[in-house]
Amino acid sequence: MATNGELKRYLEMTPGSRAIFEAGKRYLPGGDTRSSVYWEPYPTVLERGQGFRLWDVDGVERIDFVATMTTLIMGHAHPEVVLALQDQAAKGTAFGAPVEAQYRLGEILCDRIPSLELVRFTNSGTEATLNCIRAARAYTGRTRIAKVEGGYHGTHDVVSVSVRGAQGNGDPRRPPAIASSAGIPQSTVDEVVVIPFNDTDASREVLAEHAGELAAVIVEPVLGGSGMVPADPQYLAMLREVTRDNGIVLIFDEVISMRVARGGAQEHYGITPDMTALGKTIGGGLPVGAFGGKQDIMEQYDPASGPKISHAGTFQGNPMSMVAGVTTMELLTPEVYARLDGLAERLREGVRAVCAEFDIPVQVTGLASLFGVHFTGDPVRTYRDVAASDQALQQQVFWGLMNEGIFAARRLIGCVSMPMEETEIDTYVEALRKVLARR
Ligand code: PLP
Repeated sequence: MATNGELKRYLEMTPGSRAIFEAGKRYLPGGDTRSSVYWEPYPTVLERGQGFRLWDVDGVERIDFVATMTTLIMGHAHPEVVLALQDQAAKGTAFGAPVEAQYRLGEILCDRIPSLELVRFTNSGTEATLNCIRAARAYTGRTRIAKVEGGYHGTHDVVSVSVRGAQGNGDPRRPPAIASSAGIPQSTVDEVVVIPFNDTDASREVLAEHAGELAAVIVEPVLGGSGMVPADPQYLAMLREVTRDNGIVLIFDEVISMRVARGGAQEHYGITPDMTALGKTIGGGLPVGAFGGKQDIMEQYDPASGPKISHAGTFQGNPMSMVAGVTTMELLTPEVYARLDGLAERLREGVRAVCAEFDIPVQVTGLASLFGVHFTGDPVRTYRDVAASDQALQQQVFWGLMNEGIFAARRLIGCVSMPMEETEIDTYVEALRKVLARR
């Protein structure tokens, strides 16, 4: 692949990362333990984060436009979060009974998120979507679920279907159900009905054919890992209507889109699902997930009444995640969201303008503080549109941005965070200009 020197420069800047990564291959398969943050030839090994800044083991400083895949909305090591964690660490990090902070975080989430009448905590977004689906199955007595092509909901089996790789495969209006990983039984794949994101008519048709057998429809209001592509309002409205009419549980996966507004993307769109999966931002940078929704669905977990569903977990509601989450959520005022929206809009506009200077076709997607950069002249409304964009240029720009002091994600999706000012946004745009000029 022509990399115009970007790869060479990356290698020159990151010898320490390379050494640690190569030695680590002895213990971790291919040197990796988190598929989403592996990139070629090897990821930078990080040492420290402060606000919007990151330092790798070679001492290279970068501005972080990834924020742990959108998690750190208040930036790294926010002083108030650090204080809360220090205080809690001194008191104990894990107990065999609840701490008060779990009730406070539950209260904050239920107050803000329209669909949450009751909530429970997990340690990851994966466990959150797993429980939404389990609850929906128990509630409806049905087994099959519908999900969007390109939708990512973590790594448990039933959502590991048609996450990637269907491009050019089959009719886009009727996407095939394909295992996205080895080790997923065909019987699990058969439980999944796949619908095309943002194609309201085609999805309505597919759902109508399976309406009586579906326990749940799960959707990200903003397709996150697959490109930061917002749903059309009428698409989500159709899903709400069809699920309501057919006794299907509608699940919004807001693990990423909780960044869109104080009450999540559901507040922004004015559409209330039956259940919501959460993660990332709500834990203030510590491992977390949560799921919740309608009282009668969530009551299946009530220990006093059975329960119908048991849900244990050593670190659920652990004090460290809870205090970091409470502190972060209390910092997230409506003014913060407005400010982040403005900064991200400046970035989206800046990227479009720079690409126009070089006559490079681009689509910059995103909503609120989230953005995605796709090198294509065609509209980007689905995962297939994202996959059809110029991947070689995207790879080159990714290395280039890393070389210019911008911490980016390989797929050029990202976000802005609270410690940033317009200067950091303009630095991103200027870095992109330099990278495109030498392509
Ligand atoms: N759902 C969405 C939309 C996500 O983006 C992610 C993670 O990136 C998950 C679920 C899974 O969350 P976790 O990585 O905490 O298991």
